[in-house]
Amino acid sequence: MLLDRLSHDLKKAHRGGFKLALMFIDLDRFKEVNDTLGHHMGDMLLVEASQRIVGCIRESDTVARLGGDEFTVILADLTDTCGIERIASDILAALTAPFTLLTERAFVSASIGITLYPDDAVHLEDLLKNADQAMYVSKANGRNCLSYFTRAMQDAALHRMHLLADLRLAMEQHQFELHYQPILDLSTLQIHKAEALLRWTHPVRGAVGPAEFIPLAEESGLIHALGNWVFAQAMAQAKTWREQIDPDFQISVNLSPVQLQSGAERLQWQHHLQSAQLGGAAVVLEITEGLLLEKSAHISAELLAYRDAGIQVAIDDFGTGYSALSYLKQMDIDFLKIDQSFVRNLDTDASNHALCEAIVVMAHKLGLKVIAEGVETIAQRDLLQAMGCDCAQGYLFSKALSAKEFETLLATTAQPVR
Ligand code: C2E
Ligand code: MG
Ligand code: MG
Repeated sequence: MLLDRLSHDLKKAHRGGFKLALMFIDLDRFKEVNDTLGHHMGDMLLVEASQRIVGCIRESDTVARLGGDEFTVILADLTDTCGIERIASDILAALTAPFTLLTERAFVSASIGITLYPDDAVHLEDLLKNADQAMYVSKANGRNCLSYFTRAMQDAALHRMHLLADLRLAMEQHQFELHYQPILDLSTLQIHKAEALLRWTHPVRGAVGPAEFIPLAEESGLIHALGNWVFAQAMAQAKTWREQIDPDFQISVNLSPVQLQSGAERLQWQHHLQSAQLGGAAVVLEITEGLLLEKSAHISAELLAYRDAGIQVAIDDFGTGYSALSYLKQMDIDFLKIDQSFVRNLDTDASNHALCEAIVVMAHKLGLKVIAEGVETIAQRDLLQAMGCDCAQGYLFSKALSAKEFETLLATTAQPVR
């Protein structure tokens, strides 16, 4: 019926030269209500929410429920667009008021996306898509707010769509390469470790950074295939360097939180390690702090299973997220990597200096080693060395290199075989 009304209203708007606004309203935290109070109460809330929305609009407008906790509003026959924002604000206010469900009180809010005919689009499908995109921007902006669809939003969505299509092809067409950034032992200045960093050379755009494509790979599920490739590649490299250069050489691999959801990867990786006849010590997995906060027993079990396979674990970008410090010990973490943002102004900013020092002391008391990331100057290196930081990585020593370049670096810095 929504589509019916919308197409009817669009025809009318076209003939009469009117404007029309399409609004997507998604309730925030509705799932919590369902989960804690039960579906029956959830249903009651939806009924009440729809009545509140109806109370904010004119009789000639349409309210529909698309599914779940998503509502749609059509404001038809608009001669000007001034009223839209007031109506949307009324709806936001109406939905944040407490809901009384039998004897319970529940609280939700709403994220609203708005698009205009004919300003943003003239076709029904495009308007629906626009309103949906705008709604997601409201979600991303912290919820309980409204966003208008903009051209930039569409451009960004298109860009992501194209990039995702290219990303799917990139695996088949071997456009990825693994590079290695050396990690130095600060007491000897020798290299016994490297971090594997993924590089994508796009046939047209050239180099695309992992910060841009990893999130896309995570959302689309491609991260599983990509992550498996990275792991296999890093393993093969570790085997070669352990045999030819340094029997203790370690390669660290970044693990996306998405990859810890299923145990499938771990089994495959353990198999890789066995068939390459490599001990777990050849690999370090870099995970982010947020994972330690995951209360899910599943995540902890996954991490501990990696531990049991002898694989070491590092907390990446330490200090930028929220850590449950007690978990550092509980989960048997091996390394903390101090985030670049603390290292960057180490020599000029007293508080960053104090933070780095505190991290090193805490880590050592817990029996963990510390790696400083983003070391760019000799002054930073010297300070880190003086505070007893174990290892360092950064442009001062080298950027991430291809395997060939890395071997040349190792040869010229004369690594003694231990
Ligand atoms: P990260 O794991 O924290 O990696 C360190 C990043 O800092 C790398 O950026 C590295 O090139 C950069 N970096 C190293 N030294 C310096 C320095 O001295 N100064 C500055 N300004 N930067 C430095 P990159 O390669 O662009 O990677 C960005 C992020 O993408 C990584 O952050 C990691 O989270 C993710 N990533 C990279 N490869 C993979 C991968 O194979 N799988 C997954 N899941 N994520 C990856
Ligand atoms: Mg990392
Ligand atoms: Mg990092």
